[in-house]
Amino acid sequence: MKLNEANIKTAKALIKKAQRISIITHFNPDADAVGSSIGLYYYLKKRKKDATIIMPNPFPAFLDFFAAGVDMIIASKESKKACKVLMESDLIFCLDFNMIHRVGNQTKDALHDSQATKILIDHHQEPEKGFDVKFSYPSASSTTEVLAHFLTALSGKRAIDFGIAQAIYIGVCTDTGSFSYNCNNAETYSLVSELVGKGVKVDKVHQEIYNTFSENRLRLLGYAIYQKLKVFPQYHAAYICLSNDELRRYRFQPGDTEGLVNYCLNLDGVTFGCLVTERDRVVRLSFRSKSDTVDVNKFARKYWSGGGHIMASGGTYQGKLSDVITALEQQIKTL
Ligand code: 5GP
Ligand code: MN
Repeated sequence: MKLNEANIKTAKALIKKAQRISIITHFNPDADAVGSSIGLYYYLKKRKKDATIIMPNPFPAFLDFFAAGVDMIIASKESKKACKVLMESDLIFCLDFNMIHRVGNQTKDALHDSQATKILIDHHQEPEKGFDVKFSYPSASSTTEVLAHFLTALSGKRAIDFGIAQAIYIGVCTDTGSFSYNCNNAETYSLVSELVGKGVKVDKVHQEIYNTFSENRLRLLGYAIYQKLKVFPQYHAAYICLSNDELRRYRFQPGDTEGLVNYCLNLDGVTFGCLVTERDRVVRLSFRSKSDTVDVNKFARKYWSGGGHIMASGGTYQGKLSDVITALEQQIKTL
């Protein structure tokens, strides 16, 4: 990956000049969002910059192990403070999202209105206008992979110490489903090799991320697959739908449905998978594809005001869960 040199020069000058830097990522932050935010935060802090991370809402507890001790503002809990920080920043890094509204309702207006220069570091397709300097690489495995190249371009390979390396590895590992998709690029493995060289313990990270389920989370997974999986063999599709009540029954915590949608694709012949979850009055949809001919980015954009990548995307709907299911079952027939 060769980053645009003029953009690197601009970013370098902006960081040097900046008095207050914010780092913000998307709503329902996943490991790539948290990893890229923390990796960049460590880098800026080491350079004695005043940097603040703004998380739109809490991230999954299984990421606590590498986020401990990092100061951040959770916008869903302290929205005024988060907006104030954005408005008072002179530089804002936007990580792992491609549309301003993806940061969520609490901060989308402040992010939009802030006079700060906005630098995008991301791997989603077709970023919208509104970012001043773009490092957008949809072919990258993850935002942290782009971040690794960004930091190296700024300060050389020494820029990446153990903490940054671990944060970068976590994004690469999780956004490729532990190296099972988006990972046919030899460069990704060269990067991973370098990260391991910086002390990243691949086995330890795997234990922390994948083997730290609560009993409720594991039972929710069992229930979802056993009772809630709906398969449409004629359309090569499957989906799982979980209501508010069902999530409450299993004491749902952020991150508990992470990875669940992928089980739809375990089925031979199924190329389109979807997870529908009801979160109070908002319905979240996650889409996955395992075929080049099924573009779930387009699907999410067309039907659910969402987006993402060709093989993984998402969307939201304000309304009744039953309406979502009726519409989804019709849409599946068009696949
Ligand atoms: P997930 O299903 O894991 O929530 O999201 C899959 C991918 O789609 C992620 O890369 C995520 O950033 C993106 N994505 C999820 N929801 C949305 C959405 O509502 N809008 C857009 N543009 N991207 C989304
Ligand atoms: Mn990502």
